[in-house]
Amino acid sequence: MPMPFVPPLITQELTAIEEADRCQYCSIVERESGGERVIIENDHWIVFAPYCSRLPFEMWMLPKKHASSITAPDCLTSLGTTLRDALLKLKTLLDDPSYNYMFFQMDNSSYHLNIRIEPKLSIAAGFEKNTDVFINTMPPEDAAGSLREVDAPLKV
Ligand SMILES: [Zn+2]
Repeated sequence: MPMPFVPPLITQELTAIEEADRCQYCSIVERESGGERVIIENDHWIVFAPYCSRLPFEMWMLPKKHASSITAPDCLTSLGTTLRDALLKLKTLLDDPSYNYMFFQMDNSSYHLNIRIEPKLSIAAGFEKNTDVFINTMPPEDAAGSLREVDAPLKV
């Protein structure tokens, strides 16, 4: 069931997207590709620890070709295996932590699908709750390096 309103955070993001010269997520894909924050990169997807990680071992997964939702052509190509591999790396490195993953997609061609994985490794305390500013003691470059090195074969 759809929500009866658009959350303020999404409204702010849409406003920023509409005001930008080009897709900011496409810029992020270009900037992160091949970089030290990359965890997984293949022909269709990039998984990386965002520069502005709010949480330790936070991961973002973006299609390398602009797409607003998983229904876009080629978007489902390797989505499942890439997401599986990212989650297996997290499970292997951090002893199967709890996590949330969120799909951000929209029926708006300007929007760039993004999937965010947030391990539950830290607790939002008074500072975070009162300021909405998160203290993250794990540099994203170090988190990405550790996750990238994990060989997490699928066990069936
Ligand atoms: Zn884009």
